[in-house]
Amino acid sequence: MDCLFCKIIAGDIPSKKVYEDDVAFAFLDISPWQKGHTLVIPKRHSVDVLEDDEVLAEIGHAVARVGRLLKDKLGADACNVVSNAGGASGQEVFHTHVHVIPRFADNPGIGNMRAEVTADLDEVHQTLV
Ligand code: 5GP
Ligand code: ZN
Repeated sequence: MDCLFCKIIAGDIPSKKVYEDDVAFAFLDISPWQKGHTLVIPKRHSVDVLEDDEVLAEIGHAVARVGRLLKDKLGADACNVVSNAGGASGQEVFHTHVHVIPRFADNPGIGNMRAEVTADLDEVHQTLV
């Protein structure tokens, strides 16, 4: 299947992994909205959280663990947890994913979520693993 995130799970495309278990995989977003912006995805292919009754629950534990990791290791005060489902929502990769976006008290609020920071992904990754 020609799916970018399936290729990342298979290791055919490199990624900066921050979490993995039997059913879930998490890695740094290549164009982070905030420092530490992470994507949590199911290992099995699934299009989005509305097309698949089970998938959000299947990866829920991984979303929670990644969110706590970002708070603990990066000192985030909070996280936005977002899943785009369908093209009009802004979904560009059609393999289910949950954005876990660290947020900091000096830049609060939903309106500031998409800051598109220039973070050094290697440095952030080293902090998380
Ligand atoms: P969407 O817009 O579908 O909700 O989010 C897709 C996300 O995947 C975007 O935030 C985008 O930056 C990220 N992304 C796209 N291609 C790659 C890639 O090759 N590697 C990584 N790590 N992230 C990617
Ligand atoms: Zn896929």
